[in-house]
Amino acid sequence: MNALPPLPYETPATEADLAVMREQLGRDMRGVRSIARRCACGRPAVVRTAPRLEDGTPFPTSLYLTLPSMVLAVSRVEATGQMARLTEELAQDPELARAYAAAHERYLARRAELGSAEEVDHVSAGGMPTRVKCLHAIVGQGLAEGEGVNPIADRVLAELRPVASIDVCRCEETAAQESAGGPSADGQSADGQSADGQSAGGQSASGQDA
Ligand SMILES: [Zn+2]
Repeated sequence: MNALPPLPYETPATEADLAVMREQLGRDMRGVRSIARRCACGRPAVVRTAPRLEDGTPFPTSLYLTLPSMVLAVSRVEATGQMARLTEELAQDPELARAYAAAHERYLARRAELGSAEEVDHVSAGGMPTRVKCLHAIVGQGLAEGEGVNPIADRVLAELRPVASIDVCRCEETAAQESAGGPSADGQSADGQSADGQSAGGQSASGQDA
């Protein structure tokens, strides 16, 4: 297998990052290997996790979106029914389908850099390679790998740019909204995440349940 180019924004995860992620998710993030992308303020936005957690559970979603402002914005896009439209478009657009399938292969190869969990060896995340089931997972890859790797992520991120961008910190206002009882848990997609999405269990208030 050819070596991949390094993840362009990857940095080590510090103790302080783990504490921030605990705040972002409302629980400990498990299997943390590094921070794949950060908010403009430096807080973790996408965490890179081991393919298998310490307790042996396979964890296919190895690029996991944690940044609350982005999680919330993506949830709002999901709530509009965008995933069904994108899945349909994939079925009808061979070029898009090819690029999305390549993103799936990249996901598997990237995860394999950290080890393997044979139960999920061919499972990437988010519904790839043929469906769009969890935009959080797809956007996680797009932010971690940079533009030009996942066409669906690139499209969603471009659409979100006016309200949520990795280059503009909205951590404070998102925290204020949430403490004011604003859109948090109810902004989240209600459908549970399957193994090829962001792992089992329903979505927690902070995003993809682990
Ligand atoms: Zn921030």
